[in-house]
Amino acid sequence: MTRRKLVAGNWKMNTTRSEATALAGAVAAGVGASPGCDVAVCPPFPWLVPVAEGLKGSAVALGAQDVYSEPKGAFTGEVSPGMLLEAGCRYVIVGHSERRHVLGETDSQINHKVHAAVEAGLHVILCMGETLGERDRGLMERVFQRQVYSALAGLTDEQFGRVVIAYEPVWAIGTGRTATPEQAQEAHAFIRGKLGSLYGEKIASSLPILYGGSVTPDTAAGLFAKPDVDGGLVGGASLKADAFLSIVRTVG
Ligand code: PEP
Repeated sequence: MTRRKLVAGNWKMNTTRSEATALAGAVAAGVGASPGCDVAVCPPFPWLVPVAEGLKGSAVALGAQDVYSEPKGAFTGEVSPGMLLEAGCRYVIVGHSERRHVLGETDSQINHKVHAAVEAGLHVILCMGETLGERDRGLMERVFQRQVYSALAGLTDEQFGRVVIAYEPVWAIGTGRTATPEQAQEAHAFIRGKLGSLYGEKIASSLPILYGGSVTPDTAAGLFAKPDVDGGLVGGASLKADAFLSIVRTVG
């Protein structure tokens, strides 16, 4: 089964409006009309609309960094899946480790967000991964099992078609410490195996699993060469067009 590869940039809470539109413009120009993989950028909420304008007609898709699980109502400060679609988003990141560990998001909230997003027609980039403490205590497989089960429980086969997983070891995010290609492959293969036992082989073999955690132009090739690594979710290096484009070209 050939899986479509994806490289997505998570800009987190960075960029001014003019920096965001300039960065998106440079990425769109550098990627060209037919990149060898899917490419997306995920700016902060206020810049989604101006970045969408700049990406029109380009091969670069727009993503948001979070979403709420309800379509509308008295949820001050939240943003619904429908709003993201109307702003021009194709993707949304759900369950990023900063939301899980800094902002206290739970597995159950993440499951509700995944459902709301895919039901609305968004493609979800679902993040999961172990902390250093969990890795040191040998709990990785238990953590993956819990995260894969709790986030994706209840999706239909058709909805699974709009899910991409990003394996992001928490100890590698923003630390400059990248998982080795072997560590990434081992984790991806385990996650794919869990997908198979929980949701069936067809879903397991077709669902892309990205690696995220301090990916740079120097480390991308080794990681992306592994059979179960289907591209990357890139934080810090996605804020510089040259670095991000060179990571994209590693895949395409
Ligand atoms: C991320 O935030 O998803 C990420 C992978 O960040 P970084 O590449 O900076 O580690």
